[in-house]
Amino acid sequence: MSPKRTFQRAVVTGGAGFLGSHLSDALLASGCEVVCVDNLCTGSRENIGHLLGHPRFTFVRSDVSAALHVDGPVDLVLHLASPASPVAYTRLAIETLRVGSQGTSNALELAGEKGARFILTSTSEVYGDPLQHPQSESYWGNVNPVGERSMYDEAKRFAEALTIAHATRRGVDAGIVRIFNTYGPRLQSGDGRVIPNFIRQALADDPMTVHGDGTQTRSLCYVDDTVEGILRLAASPHLGPVNIGNPEELTVAELAHRIRGLIGSASPLRHLGLPADDPKVRCPDISLADTLLGWKPSVTLDDGLLRTIAWFSNNQEVPDFEPAVTSSPRGPKEKSGQS
Ligand code: NAD
Ligand code: UDP
Repeated sequence: MSPKRTFQRAVVTGGAGFLGSHLSDALLASGCEVVCVDNLCTGSRENIGHLLGHPRFTFVRSDVSAALHVDGPVDLVLHLASPASPVAYTRLAIETLRVGSQGTSNALELAGEKGARFILTSTSEVYGDPLQHPQSESYWGNVNPVGERSMYDEAKRFAEALTIAHATRRGVDAGIVRIFNTYGPRLQSGDGRVIPNFIRQALADDPMTVHGDGTQTRSLCYVDDTVEGILRLAASPHLGPVNIGNPEELTVAELAHRIRGLIGSASPLRHLGLPADDPKVRCPDISLADTLLGWKPSVTLDDGLLRTIAWFSNNQEVPDFEPAVTSSPRGPKEKSGQS
């Protein structure tokens, strides 16, 4: 079990996204001050709308690939900024590579300058289309460096290497978490990931779009569990990388049936082509997270899906992404949070 450690003031890059907004909620609940830096290229104001008046929350609209400067003390930098869904990172290929490289460099420099703990949110995609199953942290992966997902996979692999270099050469107190598919309220309806697509389609009795024959597997972790895992790594002295995910594995077709059953939907399944390089299997070995952090997921798939379905039932709008801020002078373009 990791020693207890609390933070006073955290910078959360990508804090207006799905995971970042939940992490901001958890940090604020722990008494921490949060500076959320996000250019809203895939995140949304709605995700942080409930936080904008909070006295310990500040929103800075800015591109972290251009610059990242924050005045005052900072003892935690959570670096989440990056397009994360296949649809989003395909649309924003260059931006994804920039934020994985220059954006991560800027976030690491900030952590080094402030003497802050730094956490990189890496991904199970560093394992590519894995030949080892389940995937443990010692597996080096099977990634196509020029394939359809390479802008994301290689950006994250570079970001991991950069983090290791800053930790070992410059003494940055860093940690790397490899997050497996996470779902829950505030997933963007329009970002093409399987959970928002299936839930939205089933709620409308529309055909559920299963890619390929649906035999590819994923292992889905509810957002509260993932947030707890990330914060446990942050509070620990460990560099990792550490897998955080739920090892309950199922096929995409089984997932469609499960969601349809929970909703009581009449949606048929419609099989579409399987995207190139779509991993055939994915399941985390979480023994390291258990040993180092005392962490295991606790929310069952049905329970997590029911909570997510309830949220989507009340939030049916597909938000338009705001035009991205792609460059930033020193200092924030827009600030809100004290209103
Ligand atoms: P998300 O798209 O909801 O959030 C990402 C946020 O980063 C968005 O708010 C976006 O506007 C912001 N962003 C992107 N580029 C930026 C830039 N250059 N400057 C400032 N802000 C920028 O995605 P998410 O699911 O919340 O993912 C968050 C992080 O966790 C990502 O780094 C992702 O790779 C990682 N991750 C997520 C999952 C998952 O299942 N959700 C799995 C593995 C890894
Ligand atoms: N998928 C699907 N239908 C959809 C969206 C996704 O069958 O409408 C599949 C996708 O091809 C992949 C799995 O569901 O096999 C998970 O996709 P997602 O985009 O959520 O994340 P990934 O794990 O591929 O990054």
